[in-house]
Amino acid sequence: MTKSARLRINEIFLSLQGEADTVGYPTVFVRLTGCPLRCGYCDTEYAFHNGDWLDLDVIVERVCGYGAKHVCVTGGEPLAQPNCLRLLERLCDAGLHVSLETSGAMDIAPVDTRVSRVVDVKTPGSREAARNRIGNFAALTPRDQLKFVICSREDYDWSKAFMQEHGLVDRTRILFSPSYTEVAPTLLADWILADRLPVRFQLQLHKVLWGDVPGK
Ligand code: SF4
Repeated sequence: MTKSARLRINEIFLSLQGEADTVGYPTVFVRLTGCPLRCGYCDTEYAFHNGDWLDLDVIVERVCGYGAKHVCVTGGEPLAQPNCLRLLERLCDAGLHVSLETSGAMDIAPVDTRVSRVVDVKTPGSREAARNRIGNFAALTPRDQLKFVICSREDYDWSKAFMQEHGLVDRTRILFSPSYTEVAPTLLADWILADRLPVRFQLQLHKVLWGDVPGK
């Protein structure tokens, strides 16, 4: 008998989706343990090390048990655990709307095409811009989204230039979020409006509702 595949899981919980195109929907979050990056603004450092090893069967059963239509696989960096690809397939097979939040540092090409991928572009303010995997951009479709977390005016200007350099607006949808403690949301909104920048401004709804607490 083959041993069942496992993943190290930090938490599984139900909340409202706080970001991207399914914002506001009841969503089950599966947070995988571990991340090879160390962004300055990281709000999930508690997921770097702690977690339990769970069989894929158990994870899928728990997710389905919540009775929500949406599931978001996140981290940490979920793709750092190779079995994440199998989990994504299994969740799609279960008939759920599946999204993946990934740092942009890992290869997204092997991800099941039914999954909506939300891929970060790390700005200089994150201190991890060297980790952006430029090769990922060719794999993006209009179904995916690229997310820039803006930490300063310098980050905003860098992001505009980066989008243009890599033709990103024509490839997929672009999200700009203010870094929670570093840029006032109104400031970023004003910059986008002044430039008529074809990006979608977003706030992290879960933080507006509940603040910066784990499990929400
Ligand atoms: S990629 Fe995400 S989880 Fe990893 S350090 Fe950066 S913000 Fe934190």
